Amino acid sequence: MKADLFQAPDYYNIDDLLTPEHKLIRNTAREWVKRDVSPIIEDAAQNAEFPKQLIKGLGEIGAFGPYIPTEYGGAGLDQISYGLIMQEIERGDSGIRSTASVQSSLVMYPIWKYGTEEQRKKYLPKLASGEMTGAFGMTEPNHGSDPGSMTTHFADKGDHYLLNGAKMWISNAPFADIAIVWAKDETGRIHGLIVERGMEGFSTPETHHKWSLRASATGELIFDNVKIPKENLLPNKSGLSAPLQCLDSARYGIAWGVIGAAMDCYDTALRYAKERMQFDRPIAATQLQQKKLAEMITEITKAQLLCWRLGVLRNEGKATTAQISMAKRNNVAMALNVAREARQILGAMGISGEYSIMRHMMNLESVITYEGTHDIHLLITGMDITGIPAFK
Ligand SMILES: Cc1cc2nc3c(=O)[nH]c(=O)nc-3n(C[C@H](O)[C@H](O)[C@H](O)COP(=O)(O)OP(=O)(O)OC[C@H]3O[C@@H](n4cnc5c(N)ncnc54)[C@H](O)[C@@H]3O)c2cc1C
Repeated sequence: MKADLFQAPDYYNIDDLLTPEHKLIRNTAREWVKRDVSPIIEDAAQNAEFPKQLIKGLGEIGAFGPYIPTEYGGAGLDQISYGLIMQEIERGDSGIRSTASVQSSLVMYPIWKYGTEEQRKKYLPKLASGEMTGAFGMTEPNHGSDPGSMTTHFADKGDHYLLNGAKMWISNAPFADIAIVWAKDETGRIHGLIVERGMEGFSTPETHHKWSLRASATGELIFDNVKIPKENLLPNKSGLSAPLQCLDSARYGIAWGVIGAAMDCYDTALRYAKERMQFDRPIAATQLQQKKLAEMITEITKAQLLCWRLGVLRNEGKATTAQISMAKRNNVAMALNVAREARQILGAMGISGEYSIMRHMMNLESVITYEGTHDIHLLITGMDITGIPAFK
């Protein structure tokens, strides 16, 4: 394993826009990634194993529920801090960031926003520390971009609910202690339920043979007449907007996170291009490689500014779903392009696990699809500016 020589690019002095607290939080996450993630991540991805030993550290750097109030065990930070933590973790690996995103925005957020005080007290502190882990079940085998058509459902049996159905492509499913599961009641209205590992009829088989997010565990959630205690329903919001609001928070984190992956690819390619000699000069001296590098840093800088502004809007409670879609779509595509160009700069070495680029590139193929595909986010922008939904 090569030493982690990462140096973060900041071409437009965006650090000047950050508070000392933001920088402290960012640097703590950056150091943790260098010390605990970089040395082990390549082997974890090659072996398709989620490195569970990182969960404790993720809790310690505040990656689980960064913006959840401290009274529930969260870090009580603002949205820019949340974004910076996601950026640093994804600099290490998108799979590890996925675990943090799911735990924070898709498990802790709905419990915090839609749960009872008892549910908050029971689950949030343990999720914040990493003592407990969670998954988010929305996608089904036949319903991905169109979750409103989901068929997983539950019936009221008097003293409990009876849950049936299946979810697919669920991050953290194989090891999560709880899952926030979105299912329809007898009237067809969507609700969130807290399903706990060990409940009879609930199984979580792992999905194997992925070429992407190999250091993240993905699986199914299968419900075969699972008895759910009534107190496990999230009572304070229902309908499709409930899970979609969670996704706003997670997509915002992704928009920041992928900047980290892009920065790592750019930094690696820049260093390599300056060192690699061909035709008696560094390849960085050639116009073609300079074009790639110059375009990368331009696009990274634009993405950084987009996220910083979106973070300010979120701190003010003003960011719209469509604004978040634009940032998620733009930044993931940006990072994927940077990874592809960086891979070419490294030539044959670009496909080797000696460097992080190919791993980032393969990871980003999932990130461009999950939490709303590249196409769906474009349709959200289209709907926002025309007033006409083009989904159907
Ligand atoms: C590694 C990984 C982890 C994941 N983790 C989770 C998780 O934790 N929880 C969870 O609930 N889900 C998770 N997902 C699922 C993910 O959110 C879905 O894959 C995603 O929403 C897309 O659904 P789909 O794969 O069924 O694609 P589909 O919806 O079948 O789409 C296929 C293609 O058709 C396009 N398309 C669909 N509808 C339209 C339309 N109206 N107009 C134009 N084009 C359209 C899409 O853009 C896409 O290109 C994960 C996925 C992956 C790969």
